[in-house]
Amino acid sequence: MSKLCATEGLTDVQRDILSAVRKFVDNQILPVATRLEHDDEYPSEIVEQMKDLGIFGLTIPEEYGGLGESLLTYALVVEEISRGWMSVSGIINTHFIVAYLLLQHGTSAQKQEYLPRMATGEVRGAFSMSEPDLGSDVSAIKTTATPTGDGYSITGRKMWLTNGGSANLVAVLVRTPEGQDKPHRNLTTFLVEKEPGFGEIAEGIMIPGKIEKMGYKGVDTTELLFDDYRIAADRILGGVPGRGFYQMMDGVEVGRVNVAARAAGVANRAFELGVSYAQQRRTFGKRIADHQAILFRLAEMGTKVEAAHQMVVRAARIKDAGNRNDLEAGMAKYLASEYCRDVVEDSFRIHGGYGFAKEFEIERLYREAPMLLIGEGTADIQRMIIGRRLLEDYALPS
Ligand SMILES: Cc1cc2nc3c(=O)[nH]c(=O)nc-3n(C[C@H](O)[C@H](O)[C@H](O)COP(=O)(O)OP(=O)(O)OC[C@H]3O[C@@H](n4cnc5c(N)ncnc54)[C@H](O)[C@@H]3O)c2cc1C
Repeated sequence: MSKLCATEGLTDVQRDILSAVRKFVDNQILPVATRLEHDDEYPSEIVEQMKDLGIFGLTIPEEYGGLGESLLTYALVVEEISRGWMSVSGIINTHFIVAYLLLQHGTSAQKQEYLPRMATGEVRGAFSMSEPDLGSDVSAIKTTATPTGDGYSITGRKMWLTNGGSANLVAVLVRTPEGQDKPHRNLTTFLVEKEPGFGEIAEGIMIPGKIEKMGYKGVDTTELLFDDYRIAADRILGGVPGRGFYQMMDGVEVGRVNVAARAAGVANRAFELGVSYAQQRRTFGKRIADHQAILFRLAEMGTKVEAAHQMVVRAARIKDAGNRNDLEAGMAKYLASEYCRDVVEDSFRIHGGYGFAKEFEIERLYREAPMLLIGEGTADIQRMIIGRRLLEDYALPS
């Protein structure tokens, strides 16, 4: 039997990992996802099981205790997990970005210090660029780190931290005085260690509480307030100030593949629900799947799910081969998140009135899909990236 979202050319190890994750999703996530989401409850048990499966260390090299898998493996795991519940993929995504940032840009001491504990899930990562006044326009960051002689003092307000409460290591992008004359050279990433939890969790750090959201519940999204928070200079990612913008953009590029993978996973689940319901519901003496309007809808949904999946695979493979993938990651993120919204909407319509009932899973997916149009760069920002890159590649001879 052929199913959507198959991937050719996988290794035996990749196939084994994916089959274990699919079993985990079917047995441990899907049965509880909607209840936990409705209660906005953190999936602690699922997180513990993911630690046992080694998912927190999936992409961390073996020398640091991880599984050393590729971005492709990671993306396919995220797709499977999101098919179960998108919020669970949110818990590992920021962790993965921080591990990636450390691997690519950290000093060897920073790698030694954090990666082994990140591989087990003991240290869990969040990353923070956004502020109340900015999201797309990262260069407008206001939170400032001022040199104090032996380190820095950070003051300002960060916004929208996925895992802001539950993580214990946050990569935070702030303004520093160095490189003021050069655009984007005055931003620095600090590695802020903290206790998980809410309230005043350390001197100078406050996490007010969870932001109430329309969907993507269970995973905590928070603000992070700094007030003269003292931090040593050796907590600068890579040890040198002024490189933060480029480091974070690199991290976001792989994060985009992740969001695209999530969109493919959510869309795949919406398709599964729609195609199943369409064969059970009968109107006018036949299954609704046998009405051409529904059949065409299913055809369009399946095609979109498959296209989204293939774009994710391609973007991940390009990065895994060591090449720049901003164009492909942008295209995958843009297309997969738009398609995901369409497929979820179509599946919702196939469900008729029941799609509106909380008891039906599609209700949850309907509230989750919009987040994918925003996270890791909005659809408009993706179109800007894609358009500019196409103009570069298709520039007229001068
Ligand atoms: C649930 C959730 C979790 C998040 N998690 C994190 C996280 O972990 N870490 C983090 O740092 N951030 C996080 N974010 C923030 C997210 O990255 C931003 O919301 C996103 O980048 C958009 O920024 P904004 O909300 O400030 O919108 P704005 O940048 O104010 O944009 C508003 C609108 O204007 C459009 N727009 C902006 N600039 C342009 C332009 N130049 N051309 C055309 N259109 C433009 C946008 O597309 C959008 O439609 C999260 C957000 C949400 C909702």
